[in-house]
Amino acid sequence: MTTPSSGVRLRPVLDEIAAYKPGKRPATGQDSVRLASNETPFPPLPSVVAAVDQALAEAHRYPDPLAARLVAALGAHYALAEDQVSVGCGSVALVQQLLQVTVDEGAEVVYGWRSFEAYPVFTRIAGARPVEVPVREGHLDLGAMADAVSDRTALVFLCTPNNPTGPALAADDVRRFLARVPEHVLVVLDEAYAEFVTDPAAVDGVPLLPEHANLAVLRTFSKAYGLAGLRAGYCLASPRLTTAVRKVQLPFAVSSVAQAAAVASLAARDELDDRVRTVVAERERVAPALRAVGFVVPPTQGNFVWLDCGAQALEVAEALERGGVLARAFAGDGVRVTVTNAQEGDRLLAAAERCAPASAPGPRS
Ligand code: PMP
Repeated sequence: MTTPSSGVRLRPVLDEIAAYKPGKRPATGQDSVRLASNETPFPPLPSVVAAVDQALAEAHRYPDPLAARLVAALGAHYALAEDQVSVGCGSVALVQQLLQVTVDEGAEVVYGWRSFEAYPVFTRIAGARPVEVPVREGHLDLGAMADAVSDRTALVFLCTPNNPTGPALAADDVRRFLARVPEHVLVVLDEAYAEFVTDPAAVDGVPLLPEHANLAVLRTFSKAYGLAGLRAGYCLASPRLTTAVRKVQLPFAVSSVAQAAAVASLAARDELDDRVRTVVAERERVAPALRAVGFVVPPTQGNFVWLDCGAQALEVAEALERGGVLARAFAGDGVRVTVTNAQEGDRLLAAAERCAPASAPGPRS
């Protein structure tokens, strides 16, 4: 039986939006390392699994819609009031909610490009006009981004460390940027990879919150804390913004299992931070090694490296895949590879050595 083609009048903006392409997973029986989605290689801690089991036993009940325990735990962790914390089904949901509370007819949204792929998609779905400011050698250009703010700007996304290119913004530069942006424009500091940042000059959005009521800081349990499959992210912001973000959330968006796992993960953060140190040590080994074989790799503060290989991106990703490494290619731009542990890093380096671009400018430090 054939299904008739639907005549439903869909929003024309959908024609401008490509369907989301998730990172590759290994085919059945394929022995590849999964370095395409910036996940951690470590399974959940036993204490987190125990909390999940307990929540599962209550799964016939709706979750706490306000996620009170998680909000309280995050408030205590960051020394913020509970009315400054909202949680979402991953921080990607909060990206969408922040657009929903600021974008109105004719609005513009400014972000660096290339950056997190959800920004252009959700900006268009919200009905806003994307204003993309080119990144320079992987770095967000805050001067150009401030210049791009207009009377119509509703929101600016600053992704730090920038996914997929790697560099973190310096605290001083973000302060200068905030001083230039009018107070009615929402600035979203997307710090999904905050726990991996080791550069003392890099920005931490939390201490900036008291001085900037137009700032929202996004973080997640998906990356360093390894709960990508459960979906829990959070937004730290002024009480007024937090109230707005909560108004547009999908009811019960964060499952009881995700809430319990996130609370248990915060309680186990010393153990989780040990894992983060493993990843950071591996990053410090892998990034220079990739440069040594000829790749251009911007400095990175996340759990990933960017192979800045432009037109060769698809070719490089395919060659890595033949070498047993699944990475994320952005056609015409580069390849992002997750950094995990020494074992997987060795496989990456072996595969990368075989496909380093012949035209690369040679080792860079
Ligand atoms: N922000 C950035 C910069 C990301 O890279 C990601 C995940 N790729 C997210 C937000 C969303 O993560 P999650 O929804 O899993 O919290």
